[in-house]
Amino acid sequence: MIKVFGHKSPDTDTVCSAIAYAWYLTNRKNIESKAYIQGSINRETEFVLNAFKVNRPDLLGKLSEADKVVIVDTNNPEELPDNLESAEILEILDHHKLAGGLSTSQPISVTIKPIACTATIIWQKMNQEGNADISKDIAGLMVSAITSDTLKFTSPTTTEEDRKAAQELAKIAGIDIDKHAKKMFESKSDLSGMNPSDILLSDSKIFDMSSKKVRISVIETTKPENALQLKGDLITQMQNIKKNETLYAMFFFIIDILKSEATLIVPSKHEESLAEKAFNSSFKDGIMILPGIVSRKKQIVPAIEKFLA
Ligand code: MN
Ligand code: MN
Repeated sequence: MIKVFGHKSPDTDTVCSAIAYAWYLTNRKNIESKAYIQGSINRETEFVLNAFKVNRPDLLGKLSEADKVVIVDTNNPEELPDNLESAEILEILDHHKLAGGLSTSQPISVTIKPIACTATIIWQKMNQEGNADISKDIAGLMVSAITSDTLKFTSPTTTEEDRKAAQELAKIAGIDIDKHAKKMFESKSDLSGMNPSDILLSDSKIFDMSSKKVRISVIETTKPENALQLKGDLITQMQNIKKNETLYAMFFFIIDILKSEATLIVPSKHEESLAEKAFNSSFKDGIMILPGIVSRKKQIVPAIEKFLA
């Protein structure tokens, strides 16, 4: 049985793409496969799984030498299981920059495209292989993944390929994307019952930038005030995380989906000065407002990386 999984701090694309691809391998290619997650799912993903009555995948346990795996939605070793090298990687489907660091003993199939979402790549593959007859629930998960990764087609990562895939999948799923997206984003914006650590780590990635460990967290929300009112606690917690993980720097971007604008919070003056250079802007009252900035992958990481090289 093949194990299909995506990155740590799983998001809607990682979870839904793993489920969709495991379903595809099992039901259309006769290759027994199962989706897994590395860590608890966020509220948006929980809403999506409930909406299409799909079970949450099991947590990925320790990998062994007998394991064959497919990786979706990342190629970054920092986001993959620590003992990944003991398993056999069969395939990678992703839409992030090449992070480097993965190696295999055999040639493998790798599909990485500069588009907004892994689910788009999977839908294209299903079509190319003549197996685009998928169930309503799987189509629903896939269109949700695209809606999430593109912030309903407003992120600069969005391509025509993503729009086309989302429209085709929404038709199969029988959903209205606008109505569905509204509910997804509302679920994502509900921070009740979450502590500062949950908020900071629910959508967070560690990057190796010129051998410096940098953690970049984001929260995509229609209600930025919910996170902003916790600013003091968030800063204290970022200082703890930075120390515990011996990070070079940590950044937290509150992304207002409706205004297409980010608000940056950082743990110290060190990050303030880095961010002021990277974004050519300045901090006021401990925050930096960045109009038009919504994408970690396409806007935030490249800007910060440039100043750490
Ligand atoms: Mn992802
Ligand atoms: Mn993705």
